[in-house]
Amino acid sequence: MIRKLVEFVRLQRPLRFSPEKLRALQERRLRAVVRHAYEHVPFYRTLWDEAGIRPEAVRTLEDLPRLPIVTRPQIQRAGREALARGTDLAACRRTSTTGHSGQPLEVVLSDAEVRTRLLVEFRTLIRMGLRPRDRLVILGPATGRGPHWHERLGLFRTHVIVIGTPLEEQIRLLERYQPTVLWAYPGCLHAVLHRLDYRLSRIVRPRLLITSSAVLPEHLRKRLEDDLGCPILNSYASMETGRIAAECRERNGLHVNADQLIVECLPDPPVPSGAATTVVTTLTARTMPMIRYRLGDIASLMPGRCPCGCIFPRITAPAGRQDDLVRLPSGRVQASWRLQAVIRRFPEIDQYRVVQDGRAHITIRVCVRKPWPEERCRRLGAAVREALEEDFDVEVRLTEFMPARNGKFRDFEYAVRD
Ligand SMILES: [Zn+2]
Repeated sequence: MIRKLVEFVRLQRPLRFSPEKLRALQERRLRAVVRHAYEHVPFYRTLWDEAGIRPEAVRTLEDLPRLPIVTRPQIQRAGREALARGTDLAACRRTSTTGHSGQPLEVVLSDAEVRTRLLVEFRTLIRMGLRPRDRLVILGPATGRGPHWHERLGLFRTHVIVIGTPLEEQIRLLERYQPTVLWAYPGCLHAVLHRLDYRLSRIVRPRLLITSSAVLPEHLRKRLEDDLGCPILNSYASMETGRIAAECRERNGLHVNADQLIVECLPDPPVPSGAATTVVTTLTARTMPMIRYRLGDIASLMPGRCPCGCIFPRITAPAGRQDDLVRLPSGRVQASWRLQAVIRRFPEIDQYRVVQDGRAHITIRVCVRKPWPEERCRRLGAAVREALEEDFDVEVRLTEFMPARNGKFRDFEYAVRD
């Protein structure tokens, strides 16, 4: 407990740094993690040797792009080689990514790294507005947690509703816990909202709602905000890297946890869409360092300082994954988020799923709140066809609400057997 307190106090310091001092901290940590990875993680040593890069060549943030970008399949293939030599797996926490695209990746963390992640999470929550007397409910994680020592003092009381809890039970628990701050995984939140006719206020009235973007369309978000009369803040994380960024009260971009990781937003070939996607470097993880790891979420760095005073740099809210590609008959590819942008122009659509199920065939399942005239279906099909810019059959089907698997809902799938 003392160790936790000391570490938490330490974690507060970078928030008050000057930009120059923050940069110095990042560069010091970058040099250390690169040296560590080269000396102790066989995967990086081989990769950088092959690329002809010495760890000493990475001194400043500007040197970072010299290192090659690393993808999830590369880390998967590396297996234990991606871990620091001598890692005692039995003493580590092993979690898996959800396998949203492709095979899940096992992520290995030491006890100390788990603790740091939790403390960074806690720091993020406090910065988003969590207060000691709040009742926090976390809706949708894979595992629960026991009560912490501070809860016995009535501080930061937290309840977890794990994914897999039947929907009716989730609603009953929310009603019972009456959160003042609700942190919800978007897939779960959407299902609850749908059941409650998008009036969460029927059962709870939190003063702050935290979720991640991408899944809740903007008009639903707006309705939810009107219904609850409370701010909805965005956050961004991945299993591989921990909490990456979170929105502040200004709600104009997400502040990157810059003392813990570096986020680059880079143009991402092979998709000629002009969108930048995220590449993340963890600065403090040692068991399984992620150095220039391609997360591939669409986001851009924001210029200038935030009026909230925080010096941590900002990124735009991540909007889907660049990986999700529509393959066109001509052989070109098109990022599926382009279609999503078209679909979201139809505000009566609650939820949708686009499946490319043929070389030139796409099925769009849509869940709408009111009976939908045939003419709207046709118009949606035509708009999507136009966005694809090639000859495509677009079939629109009405459907019931589609539940999320593993708490994440995929709104695009490429399902053509090549
Ligand atoms: Zn801010």
